[in-house]
Amino acid sequence: MTDLKTFRTDAREWLETNCPAEMRQPIRSEADICWGGRNWKFQSDAQRRWLEVMGERGWTVPDGPKEYGGGGLSAAEARVLKDELQQIGARPPLTSFGISMLGPALLKFGTQEQKRHYLPQIARGEIRWCQGYSEPGAGSDLAGLQTRAEDKGDHWLINGQKVWTSYADRADWIFCLARTSSESKQGGISFLLFDMETPGVSTKPILLISGSSPFCETFFDDVKVPKDQIVGEANKGWDVAKYLLGHEREMIAGMGLGVSGSSVTLGPVLKPADPLLRAEIAAFDVDALAFAAMSERFAAMWKAGEAHPASPSMMKYAGTELNKRRNELAMASGGSDALEWDSERSRDGSTARAWLRSKGNSIEGGTSEIQLNIVAKHILRLPGA
Ligand SMILES: Cc1cc2nc3c(=O)[nH]c(=O)nc-3n(C[C@H](O)[C@H](O)[C@H](O)COP(=O)(O)OP(=O)(O)OC[C@H]3O[C@@H](n4cnc5c(N)ncnc54)[C@H](O)[C@@H]3O)c2cc1C
Repeated sequence: MTDLKTFRTDAREWLETNCPAEMRQPIRSEADICWGGRNWKFQSDAQRRWLEVMGERGWTVPDGPKEYGGGGLSAAEARVLKDELQQIGARPPLTSFGISMLGPALLKFGTQEQKRHYLPQIARGEIRWCQGYSEPGAGSDLAGLQTRAEDKGDHWLINGQKVWTSYADRADWIFCLARTSSESKQGGISFLLFDMETPGVSTKPILLISGSSPFCETFFDDVKVPKDQIVGEANKGWDVAKYLLGHEREMIAGMGLGVSGSSVTLGPVLKPADPLLRAEIAAFDVDALAFAAMSERFAAMWKAGEAHPASPSMMKYAGTELNKRRNELAMASGGSDALEWDSERSRDGSTARAWLRSKGNSIEGGTSEIQLNIVAKHILRLPGA
């Protein structure tokens, strides 16, 4: 306990010295979220400094192994750090699919060279990754994917198309599923990593109702990938893909906690006059607090390898439903003001845009129906689910 107390005091002092005041402001727009990578344009010196100091300390991945650029903290220390960051309202130094998805998969399935090469760069925010899973004919039925990787002796030759690839046009590298054998559906898939600047890779952004264009169609036309950029064995990529999906679902479930980690983040309008709406918000707060407690428990069990394999699906379902409810309440609380789209007062329609974006939560990372199927099969043991 004393140790944790000392850790808290030290962390607080360090953050006081190293977290720039500008990075203690609430996130106001997309540009406030730092994704890192070789093409990232820092919004300010403070944003750059915050990433650099946290990356150097390994606190972009607080509980990651020190030898691979993480902070090496215990689960309890990582919780204390999270708490201290929340106390000062610090923005995350880095938002990264490398940290939330690829890193854990590399730690489990990567070679020693791959871990040494990629993980420290991920922790320092030097590579921005995108996820090449879904295809026009393979979403929920992901193992039906048709992108092919042919073994050409000294390289893989990739041809095919992905869709809904978030930030493909801004990413440096992709982690990508490709078919290396057609003998078995799940058994013929491999998990590959490659640079988005490799000749033959192209992207086409897809415009969304929220007015932004966060994802793309991604095309591979005779893309040559070095042989050693496969993770795990050829034709065994499905195991890597599924493991990564568990982490993706954990990340998406975290949306249930709200942007600031608080259970009651409802945007700018917090005190509507309507008593029925206030009662709905109170009921929401109770559910959000229960979800926050459940998330802590789940995270601890997941890290200790004790969580039920279907629990990321439960958490993903609960977290995304909660986030959609939060956004509905924010819109209802805002009344007609919340419909403003382009004004400074509405911060460019942030409430309405967040509400529209939240609709995708129950689709991305596997739809709610698919999560419920997984729960039915593995936990309720329903036949044929
Ligand atoms: C915001 C967002 C970001 C995304 N980012 C990425 C990304 O970066 N990389 C990537 O690879 N993909 C990404 N996706 C794609 C996402 O993974 C797929 O949209 C998702 O897996 C569903 O696939 P689909 O769109 O093909 O729908 P389909 O699989 O065609 O499903 C259509 C409908 O049928 C239902 N359905 C399908 N099968 C069943 C079944 N067996 N039982 C019951 N109902 C069923 C589904 O629930 C859904 O309602 C993203 C999606 C969104 C919305």
